[in-house]
This record gives sequence, C-alpha cells and structure tokens, in this order.
Amino acid sequence: MSGRAVLVTGGSRGIGRAVARAFAAGGDRVAIHHRDSAGLAERLRAELPGEGHAVVRADLADADAVRAMVDEAAQRLGGLDVLVNNAGVFGPADPPHPVFESSYEQWRARWREVLDTNLVGAANAAWCAAQHMRERGGRIVNVSSRGAFRGEPANPAYGASKAGMNAMAQSLAVALAPYGIAVACVAPGFVETDMTNEHLKSERGEAVRAQSPFHRVARPEEIAAAVHWLASPEAEWAAGTIIDLNGASYLRS
Ligand code: NAP
Repeated sequence: MSGRAVLVTGGSRGIGRAVARAFAAGGDRVAIHHRDSAGLAERLRAELPGEGHAVVRADLADADAVRAMVDEAAQRLGGLDVLVNNAGVFGPADPPHPVFESSYEQWRARWREVLDTNLVGAANAAWCAAQHMRERGGRIVNVSSRGAFRGEPANPAYGASKAGMNAMAQSLAVALAPYGIAVACVAPGFVETDMTNEHLKSERGEAVRAQSPFHRVARPEEIAAAVHWLASPEAEWAAGTIIDLNGASYLRS
C-alpha cells in the first residue's frame, strides 16, 4: 500500500474536508470521520484522488465509539500514521452561553458538551491513535483556535476547550517524542466554513473580515496546508508548536 494512513476527524466538511483532500493529493490513504454527515463523507471519499480511503463514524463525546472508530480506521487503512484532531463544535447552531444570559443548567450543559467533544474527544482519539503509532511513530495534529489565546467571551467553554487542546498537544509532544510521534497544533482565526458562514453573511461579517489587515478570513485550504506540513516527516522539529493562522488579526507574545 502506498502513502501514509491518515485519520481526519470531522473530515466530511469545512477544514476537515480540505485536510482530507490535501493528504489524498499527496498520495496518502485517508479515513474520513464524521458524526452526522454520512452523505458528505461518502461523496468526498468517492472524489478523493488515489485509493484505499475509508469513511468512519463516531460521536466524539462517546469514548467507546471513539475507540471503535480509531481501531476501525487503522484496520481499514492498514495502520495509522497520522491523526488530525479536527472535529469540533462552536457555530451558529450552537447557542452561545454568556454568563448572565445562561441559567446554571444551560451553563453546565454547554461546558460539558463542548469539553466532551472538543477536548476529551480529541484526547481520547489521541490515546487510541497512539496505540497504533507506538511501534512505528506518527504524527498528531490538533486543530485548535485563536480563541484559546484571545478569549471567547460569549463561548467561554469553546475557548477553554481549545486552550486545553494546546496544553494537551504540548504535554503529548514531550511524552510521545521518544516513540517517534510528533504532536503539534494549528490555531486558526476565522475560516470560511459551515461553522462561520452565517456569521460572515450577517451584518457583523464586515467587522470580522476587518479583524485582519488582509481584510478577509481564511480559506480552509490555507489551514489544511499547515496541517499537512506539520504531519510531514520534515516537521518533526515542530513538535510542541502551535502555529497561528489568523492573518495577523491577533498577535500573541
Ligand atoms: P464545521 O464546518 O462546523 O465542521 C465541524 C466538523 O466537526 C464536522 O465534520 C462535524 O461532523 C464534526 N463534529 C462536530 N461535533 C462532533 C461530534 N460530537 N462528534 C463527531 N464529530 C463532530 O467546522 P470547521 O469550521 O471546519 O471547524 C473544524 C475545526 O476547526 C473545529 O475544531 C473548529 O473549532 C476549528 N476552528 C474553526 C474555525 C473557523 O472559523 N471555522 C476557526 C478556528 C478553529 P458532522 O459533519 O458529521 O456533523
């Protein structure tokens, strides 16, 4: 079998779809993970260049389902070389939860859902993937967010989940380096996807584009290119890094 075996969570649309395309274009075999987008995932698998791609399903908030999904991906791809922890929740369909507009019940439910999906789900996928990488090394790339650094006043659980993802990647970068497994993150600002489309089309869209001196938001392909590089053999020395991809809209020291 040619190329590497790559699992992309949330691979059916948005950034994940662009990531899946980037790996397939480079000659890799891709397992496209989804939760609800079976049709989109199947369509993508059919149109990806190369052979040996697969579609796998799991709710990332379900630890047993994550383990079964990662094992199935490894079985269908013939191993696992790369995990891209991309799936996540935030978007317009997800109600924001500012402190004084949430009941205590809403607040707790929101934190549980977001952390279970974005952080614990990603951590569980990393544990499961590492079992397959232990003997032959690999790469784990987390799709974090600018919000981890800038803050997310209306969606604090989202910001915290991404800050946790960064810390998780840095800890695992140290723990897994002796096994030849390099772990790193990308931290995008606004990207044109389903997660942000409504926002970008609204009257706030112009202000969002103006956050960057380039006066635009990112294309999913721009995020995918960095993920693809971080997963390359050349990027081992980038283990533990967090690459900002926000068009200079937020400069952290
Ligand atoms: P998107 O278009 O909304 O897609 C989200 C993906 O996550 C979908 O594939 C979805 O699967 C999957 N997903 C959501 N909840 C899930 C769950 N409980 N279990 C399994 N899969 C789940 O999002 P995107 O904009 O491409 O974002 C991808 C990643 O980039 C996310 O982690 C997001 O936080 C991060 N990010 C995005 C932006 C942005 O501006 N778009 C900025 C910074 C960071 P289904 O399609 O099957 O439901």
